[in-house]
Amino acid sequence: MNIDLRSDTVTKPTKGMLDAMFSARVGDDVFNEDPTVIALEEKAARLFGKEAGLFCPSGTMTNQIAIKVHTQPGDEVICDVHSHIYNYEGGGISFNSGVQARLVAGDRGRITAGQVEQHINGDFDWLTRSTLVSLENTVNRAGGSYYKTAQIAPIAELCKARGLRLHLDGARIFNALTETRESTLDTGKLFDSVSICLSKGLGAPAGSLLLGTKPFIKQARRVRKVFGGGMRQAGYLAAAGIYALDNHVERLHEDHKRARALETILKTMPYIESIMPVDSNILIFNLNEKLPGSKFEELLLKENIKISAFGKQTVRFVTHLDFTDDMLTRVADVLKKIA
Ligand SMILES: *Cc1c(COP(=O)(O)O)cnc(C)c1O
Repeated sequence: MNIDLRSDTVTKPTKGMLDAMFSARVGDDVFNEDPTVIALEEKAARLFGKEAGLFCPSGTMTNQIAIKVHTQPGDEVICDVHSHIYNYEGGGISFNSGVQARLVAGDRGRITAGQVEQHINGDFDWLTRSTLVSLENTVNRAGGSYYKTAQIAPIAELCKARGLRLHLDGARIFNALTETRESTLDTGKLFDSVSICLSKGLGAPAGSLLLGTKPFIKQARRVRKVFGGGMRQAGYLAAAGIYALDNHVERLHEDHKRARALETILKTMPYIESIMPVDSNILIFNLNEKLPGSKFEELLLKENIKISAFGKQTVRFVTHLDFTDDMLTRVADVLKKIA
């Protein structure tokens, strides 16, 4: 049995998903002629109460396009220190948009309206223009922590009052909504733009969506082409996305349940120093000094379990569609065995 807990991006399409892909109706999407891509964009936009959507190859691209459209060179984007847009997009904020990040130290990746307000610059020639706030939900680097709508609403109000745009990096927004039991429509209302990933917990092979107003998406479409993200018969991938939205959202609670089960086991292991609270499908924990992350990784690999050391003593497990109860039992056995 091969087990992969490195990321929720490692899933392979299910039989049902492959069937949907093989039977997709397609056309050239750069000419706006792919009916399946259009259907996916409209479906996602409707789901979040947005006017329009744009299908892109990755979540990095949807975030970077949003930043590009919302800002001018020399502007500042306010975001948490753990944000994916800052840490894991290759410096794209400056590379693509000539924008700098104003980092806020939030509570496991979550920032407050008060903190945002403190970081908005006044209108002086010598200060950077604060034009965009970006929130991540759930927060990958902070162990899958999530915002509730009530925590976001004051930030949205502040942004409106001060003329800033608000973007959501919702790579795992469905994991967040699984926990809060809040709706996509209530989420969509708060943001000027929303990015969602189909290739994480939802189990599609590739693809992300950017959602917003019609004029925003019109401009985003231009930027997608400039970034090299205009795809042709992308309907084969879009079909996987439609299938994922229809079939793989309701089951996310299973991933969270398995993540909590792993937490319960880890808590009792002598080699564990600390575990971040497990809020969704991501577990981040520290090993004690005697067991370096690289050694732990090696021990598990010998048992055909892939994991990722996140730092010297830090390890991340991510549960997903291809991680079953049988695999959970197997991982539990191995974790006990190496103790
Ligand atoms: C994975 C991820 C993205 C996008 O990553 P891609 O690999 O480019 O699709 C964006 N934000 C967060 C929080 C992520 O975890």
